[in-house]
Amino acid sequence: MFDKSKIVHSNVVAEATKQALIRRGVTLEDIAEIVYELQIPYNEGLEMSHCLESVKGVLRKRELQHAILVGIELDELAEQGKLSQPLQQIVESDEGLFGVDETIALGSVFTYGSIAVTTFGHLDKNKTGIINELDTKKGRGVHTFLDDLVASVAASAAARIAHRSRDLEESGETFEDVLPGDTMPETKIKGAKI
Ligand code: MG
Repeated sequence: MFDKSKIVHSNVVAEATKQALIRRGVTLEDIAEIVYELQIPYNEGLEMSHCLESVKGVLRKRELQHAILVGIELDELAEQGKLSQPLQQIVESDEGLFGVDETIALGSVFTYGSIAVTTFGHLDKNKTGIINELDTKKGRGVHTFLDDLVASVAASAAARIAHRSRDLEESGETFEDVLPGDTMPETKIKGAKI
């Protein structure tokens, strides 16, 4: 049963998530580059800074934080040979039919709707930027979960921009009119913290 006395503060989880990505060689800028590439064809005036802000925005969601923490932990345990067999060998070899890595990552993008789901599928297949680097780093560490998790963060951040873009369009604006810090209208809500 859930024990309220053992509750972990959101800031601790958010920081642990960011540190886990950095420890595994993934910067927020790496993810923002994928977002930029995905969204620039549809968004006049979009800049890298808007994409970076969107990546930071989606990383505030617990769905993504929890998925990242679980996945990276499993990659690291597999790297240290600490999983039990046959799971150790399945994760270590990135067995094609395993699929739990994709399932966890896919489950975390639902917050951002169907655009995030289809974008995740696109990234899973085309492996853009750092996703490709992680995928081809085989033999140098285990990244079975990490490549999918990066795709889920990028897909969510891209979907978030797509939705924001419609709001801008309706008010006769483009990203050119938006300061990077203004890509997160949800943080303007009184009492909301960044
Ligand atoms: Mg994978």
